[in-house]
Amino acid sequence: MGLRINNDKLTPALCRKLVESCPFGAINPSGDNGITIGPECRLCKACIKAGEGSITYEEEKRNNDNHNWNGIAVFCEISGNSIHEISYELLGKASELAKTANQPVYALAIGSGIKSLVPVLSAYGADSISVYDHQSLENYLVEPYTNIVEDFISRTKPSAMLIGATSAGRSLAPRIAARLKTGLTADCTALEMDENNNLIQIRPAFGGNIMARIITPNTRPQFCTVRYKIFSKIHPRTDSAAQIHNIEVTDKMLSCSAEILTAERKPEVADISEADIIVQVGRGVKSQKDLEMVQELATAIGGQIACTRPLVENHWFDSRKQIGLSGRTVKPKLLICIGVSGAVQTVAGMKGSECIIAINSDPNASIFDVANYGFVGDLYQIIPLLLKKIKEAD
Ligand SMILES: Cc1cc2nc3c(=O)[nH]c(=O)nc-3n(C[C@H](O)[C@H](O)[C@H](O)COP(=O)(O)OP(=O)(O)OC[C@H]3O[C@@H](n4cnc5c(N)ncnc54)[C@H](O)[C@@H]3O)c2cc1C
Repeated sequence: MGLRINNDKLTPALCRKLVESCPFGAINPSGDNGITIGPECRLCKACIKAGEGSITYEEEKRNNDNHNWNGIAVFCEISGNSIHEISYELLGKASELAKTANQPVYALAIGSGIKSLVPVLSAYGADSISVYDHQSLENYLVEPYTNIVEDFISRTKPSAMLIGATSAGRSLAPRIAARLKTGLTADCTALEMDENNNLIQIRPAFGGNIMARIITPNTRPQFCTVRYKIFSKIHPRTDSAAQIHNIEVTDKMLSCSAEILTAERKPEVADISEADIIVQVGRGVKSQKDLEMVQELATAIGGQIACTRPLVENHWFDSRKQIGLSGRTVKPKLLICIGVSGAVQTVAGMKGSECIIAINSDPNASIFDVANYGFVGDLYQIIPLLLKKIKEAD
């Protein structure tokens, strides 16, 4: 698959033209009458247009064997001795999709000393759990994990696989998809299944202005990543009894070009995705000093402070505090948005909030379209009043 050089059609003049045609500098002269295409190639195909038949593109011919792939698999992320909450959310969604397609749900668990942890996955929707437990898998490393996922896929042949868009998931999913030469859609916000068992992978595109519906009709498995807090965790089932398969981890699976010398846990930072109460601040706040007033409000109501993207860009906040399309997805019981206009990219990360209160001086601000309650007015007058009321109530 890829670009093919037809040497018999090359002339010295054409070689020069081809070298010049490549916007990425991937084509280099070779000998008197030849060229090579280097790893810089982005398959833009500009050379095909310029090459007068001397370069062609060949698609790999694959037999469509979709009917041999069955089931929805979930990569259940385990760190140390705890299962990441996103695993439960994905298992819940996988169960829903599997029901429509009448397929099983497979869970994949990788780690060290995890055998006693995994039975719980059954209660959240897994019909079968594959466990790869080995002391060398204590810390996440993309190479062995990719080898193991590949092994798991060759054993179970799932039609689709859901992976959390965590740091680990984001590095793992593209590697596996590339290795298996299949498709991957990152950061899906909704998933559906069509009558041909195509997973409809729905995600914002063009800066959040449209929702793209993407399918992978010709190859299996269909891979997607989903961010934390996009789907809800289901109530655990009490009648569940998944089959547990303990799979031997071979040296070949563990082969890795990187070695972990030491691993240090970063200090825990309160995660806004987990918060029940959030005060989100936007560009309506005029100076960094004024954040003290907002922090005072957040502390008074037992909430965490979060922000819009411009406040990360001007270095007032760490990026982990940003809500939205390119930030975190949140689902608090209460979200207070202060001086936030309600751009589509911000709102994309807060739609699951139970109650949204907006404070904005512009009565036409879009944030009022998604807010349950709105205060039209100057935040510099409203916040001190709110703080006064809260103190009086104490
Ligand atoms: C691909 C892409 C991804 C993006 N991802 C994100 C994302 O993840 N998260 C995100 O937040 N943004 C994101 N953005 C940026 C987004 O489009 C907006 O530019 C941004 O959210 C606006 O931030 P804001 O609401 O703080 O500022 P503004 O839009 O400037 O709004 C400030 C608001 O404050 C109000 N205000 C001003 N003064 C006062 C006052 N004294 N009292 C009360 N109200 C007042 C104004 O009326 C206004 O509505 C993204 C953009 C792109 C293109």
